[in-house]
Amino acid sequence: SKTTGRGRYSFFSEDMDMTLGRRQRIELDLRLALAEGGQLHVYYQPIRSARDRQIVGYEALLRWNHPESGWISPEFFIPVAEETGLIEDIGAYVLSEACAAAAFWTGMTVAVNVSAVELRNPAYAEKVEKTLAAAGLEPRQLELEVTETAATDETTAAADNLRRLRALGVKIAIDDFGTGFSSLGRLQSLNVDRIKIDKSFVRGLGQKAGDEAIIRAIVDLAHARGLKTTAEGVETPEQDAGLTRIGCDNLQGYLYSKAVPLHELKDMIVARRKT
Ligand code: C2E
Ligand code: CA
Ligand code: CA
Ligand code: CA
Repeated sequence: SKTTGRGRYSFFSEDMDMTLGRRQRIELDLRLALAEGGQLHVYYQPIRSARDRQIVGYEALLRWNHPESGWISPEFFIPVAEETGLIEDIGAYVLSEACAAAAFWTGMTVAVNVSAVELRNPAYAEKVEKTLAAAGLEPRQLELEVTETAATDETTAAADNLRRLRALGVKIAIDDFGTGFSSLGRLQSLNVDRIKIDKSFVRGLGQKAGDEAIIRAIVDLAHARGLKTTAEGVETPEQDAGLTRIGCDNLQGYLYSKAVPLHELKDMIVARRKT
């Protein structure tokens, strides 16, 4: 089944192939959650520099605490939100929360996931600009994570948004890199700042020889183009060592911390600065 690691998610996890009834119920409940508040929470997973081991940023990850069903994984409700257009409101909520949180820490980057649906809205870049201004956050402290497909979206609106955002100083990262089509070749033409290496490759480090070679190729090619790299899903000290040896810039995963509420992230950052 699709239950994520820690066993916190129980609902909707039996089969990805949801019946229409279930889907509609998620949509209705999601609308209610957005209208009433209190159920959707933004959690933050710290990201470290491989070189000096310091926390350099964090990724905002949405959590839904459903009143009856408990914690529901974003892997289930984000696709529904995308199909119904609710992702625009959800994305706006996550972005404003994340920018407000990041405004406290200079020098740290907050990463926010952006759906291809949001990116296709011609007003998206302007919305981001307004959110940054409202939070008092420097554009370069925000990194938007888009999928390979969204980054190579030929529609004018998506390409325009990416161009405008980068001109503003916002960073763009390609999420789940390596899972799309013809990835390595595409790296040459992508106008982005960072590549996030998908956790499926990180998992094979030290076990499958091919995965180390793929990661090395991605990192070398990215660096040759002046792009930064982040490895996601780092779970073991061996993976940490391998990625550091390869020269991957940033590391993120359960080895360091899962995504936590804002107050826990603050404690973590303050504690590390004292040592
Ligand atoms: P993602 O952007 O690839 O996020 C990384 C996922 O891997 C997160 O799952 C994170 O909790 C999990 N993860 C972190 N470290 C480890 C590790 O060491 N091992 C393993 N196995 N997993 C790890 P999560 O939070 O369940 O999110 C799932 C997906 O839902 C995200 O994948 C992203 O695509 C989407 N998502 C989450 N929040 C948002 C959001 O605010 N907006 C949009 N559009 N999508 C979101
Ligand atoms: Ca992401
Ligand atoms: Ca990812
Ligand atoms: Ca993913």
